[in-house]
Amino acid sequence: MSLTSNPLLQDFNEAPFNTIKDEHFKPAFIEAIQINRNEIDAITNNTEAPTFQNTIAALDYSGQQLDRISSVFFNLNSAETSEAIQKIAQEVSPLLTAFSNDVTLNETLFERIKSIYAQKDDLDLSVEEKTLLEKKYKSFARNGANLPENKKSRLREIDTALAKLKLSFGENILAETNSYELHLTNEEDLAGVPASAKEAFAAEAASRDKEGWVVTLDYPSYIPFMKYADNRELRKKLSLAFGSKAFKGNEYDNQKNVIEIVNLRHERAQLLGYDTHAHFVLEERMAQTPAKVKDFLNELLEKAKPAAEREFAQLENFAKTQDGIDALQKWDGSYYSEKLKKELFNLDDEQLKPYFKLENVINGVFEVATRLFGLQFEQVTNVDVYHKDVKTYRVTDVDGNYISLFYADFHPRKGKRGGAWMTSFKGQKIENGVNERPHISNVCNFTPSTPSKPSLLTFNEVTTLFHEFGHGLHGMLANTTYPSLSGTSVYWDFVELPSQVLENWCYEKEALELFATHYETGEVIPMELVQKIKDAATFQEGMQTLRQLSFGLLDMSWHGQDPSNITDVKAFEKEAFGNTALYPDTPETCMSTAFAHIFQGGYSSGYYSYKWAEVLDADAFEYFKEQGIFNKDVATKFKDHVLSKGGTEDPMTLYKRFRGQEPKPEALLKRAGLID
Ligand SMILES: [Zn+2]
Repeated sequence: MSLTSNPLLQDFNEAPFNTIKDEHFKPAFIEAIQINRNEIDAITNNTEAPTFQNTIAALDYSGQQLDRISSVFFNLNSAETSEAIQKIAQEVSPLLTAFSNDVTLNETLFERIKSIYAQKDDLDLSVEEKTLLEKKYKSFARNGANLPENKKSRLREIDTALAKLKLSFGENILAETNSYELHLTNEEDLAGVPASAKEAFAAEAASRDKEGWVVTLDYPSYIPFMKYADNRELRKKLSLAFGSKAFKGNEYDNQKNVIEIVNLRHERAQLLGYDTHAHFVLEERMAQTPAKVKDFLNELLEKAKPAAEREFAQLENFAKTQDGIDALQKWDGSYYSEKLKKELFNLDDEQLKPYFKLENVINGVFEVATRLFGLQFEQVTNVDVYHKDVKTYRVTDVDGNYISLFYADFHPRKGKRGGAWMTSFKGQKIENGVNERPHISNVCNFTPSTPSKPSLLTFNEVTTLFHEFGHGLHGMLANTTYPSLSGTSVYWDFVELPSQVLENWCYEKEALELFATHYETGEVIPMELVQKIKDAATFQEGMQTLRQLSFGLLDMSWHGQDPSNITDVKAFEKEAFGNTALYPDTPETCMSTAFAHIFQGGYSSGYYSYKWAEVLDADAFEYFKEQGIFNKDVATKFKDHVLSKGGTEDPMTLYKRFRGQEPKPEALLKRAGLID
């Protein structure tokens, strides 16, 4: 097949799904990598002295064809995959990694960047240009480009070792999860468990050629058993099995891995000139320093603790009256909380769903965007899609100017991974005076329609839709010059602000009246139901906050100090949890050995960002509430200083320009019912 007939190598605007075939991808990747290589060679071979334009800007504008092909391919691999696509992914991923390593190790390229960086204050750069220069320089420096050869090779050794350790950390958890089963043959042991969960347990048993029921340590199995099973001894057994994953001293134990990971991370940070791994990570976060993160967590802890203790006492009381439980244990928490919640609110999804027909909710979120930002959404059918369920919309501003293309892919199917996410098929940028508008997509797995009923969303699905659409707006309204600073390319602890803030409209009468109408009667959702949703949303918020804070503090303890003297993982963890613990400790369990977020995933020194983002979104929404939730001035400020700016400036600066001050935790504490 010739490259000239490959649709991915043509100059396309909308992704050409109708003409792409699987066999187009690999040759397109290979060709686009070569094109990008040539572009970088042209930068390094340039005989003129390095300038911002001929090096930094040229580098950022390079590789666009490769980016487009990658986004089409990897979006398909998430939303509409097949064995063929997965096979191609395995073939092209090493090519992409090798290429990106070649770029980061390109010393001639770094020398050019470095010489521009050295003159950064004399170059009369715009704020955005300065940010881009900083970002490019750091992407090399933070990978060791400035180190002498011997230290460089030690850094590579550390990176290789860490990659292996992370892999083995994850494999151990998986092995421990998979090797455990709670096999039950007496139906009485399942008393309290809802029929649907019981059916799933029976199916699990059948799949293992066993009689009765099998409960596993996978969340969809573990959670319903802990929530509903009346048998306390069995809950204890399952809870201890869950909590002791990779902490049993067997071949799958992760204690040694934890110690090795934190020590190697520390050594790496020191090689690069940072005090600790947390200092290294937080340099590229809104929070900036470990001290700031610790202060942040401890301030919230102080405020949340009284509420958490009150809630715990209430729960303990409830368990005592219900079943005469004297000391509440970890394996009682979900069970009694579920019962208490039912008693207090008696709210279930079935009551709410008729008010949340998918089409109404979509129109609702569009209407919110219209009122806030003047955006108009028109469904279009002349754009290629990768599956017939995908809808496309042309988004314009109040003057009719084209803003973005929006893809919406809402229902589960084979070939789509679980969860919900925002992504893009084309990024925004300004090049040669032309503002290229983005193609943004939301992908979800919402309850589909049935022959007798339309798609009716649970309230959780409604907030998910608003959340992903908030990320979507961050992409759609992007208005920056350089591609790598556009849209959601912001610091990690800033990226959830637009998404989480939009969820707030789901709880407001003024917004719900726009779309939450009964799909049969047209009746607007009754306010007492809305109030119930709000009350239920803050149920046990103190306890949950404490739990999140304890994980954040544990993360900071592992990564915010010299770990060379730590020998006992469990003792260290207990100390780090400090006064966040509500339940009695169980010596046979350990959180750290299964804390995949920070030891396997990318959340090391970043777990705090969940709470950080909540503080931001509550504080931002408070501003809307003060001025009216559809206030145009506030919305315009949010668009001008946050949504359109991407990562072009320090996020705290952007935030303060929108809000007039730094974010304060009071709004979150109030919303969560932790203070009056
Ligand atoms: Zn999100």
